[in-house]
Amino acid sequence: MATFEELRLSSLNCQACRLAERRTNVVFGEGNPESPLVLVVEGPGDNEDKTGRPFVGRAGQLLDKALADNGLDRTKVYICNTVKCRAADWSSGKPVNRPPMDDEVQACRQWLVPQLGLIAPKVILCVGAPSAKNLIKKNFAITKERGMYFPCEFAKTAIATLHPAYILRQQNISGDGGYSLLVADIAKAWAAAQKLLDKGDPEPKREPVPGSLFDL
Ligand code: URA
Repeated sequence: MATFEELRLSSLNCQACRLAERRTNVVFGEGNPESPLVLVVEGPGDNEDKTGRPFVGRAGQLLDKALADNGLDRTKVYICNTVKCRAADWSSGKPVNRPPMDDEVQACRQWLVPQLGLIAPKVILCVGAPSAKNLIKKNFAITKERGMYFPCEFAKTAIATLHPAYILRQQNISGDGGYSLLVADIAKAWAAAQKLLDKGDPEPKREPVPGSLFDL
């Protein structure tokens, strides 16, 4: 089995889908690969494509603030994306970010699955619907099912939360746009990860039961 660094280096040459044609950088992920908590977001945007780092634009800064509000930062968790290359529509000549397509998400599982396998997190926090649909269930309903524990193939449990880009758009309309939910979901995911670390043994997979899996 490849090491984490070998996996990262191989991903930099990936040609498995159309996103390879226009990318500047593959954005593999960053943070602490020993962390019990991995955040899986959607996919790189312009800033991330340019820098090769995940979540460094405005939405990423909001995520950093939500982590800080929980006493966390990027050294304590690992952050990666569902797809490792920027998904954009180039039909107008200029790139306009778009959600990754199903075949792109499927193609990128060749990196995400071993990446999660090597980290073996206790908890995955799916940030946004594409991540939750990929890692929890196809028909995941983000506004109804965020904040609940679900069984997950790649961790003891997974929780989903709102994407910070969505929160920023909502804030333009009114209020905190769901920011307090993001902070609460991170708190819940981190507490569950700590609790599972303390226990040191596997939790049985169960049907999703809102808020009750670990009786926190
Ligand atoms: N949006 C995401 O989902 N991920 C990033 O890395 C940047 C923006």
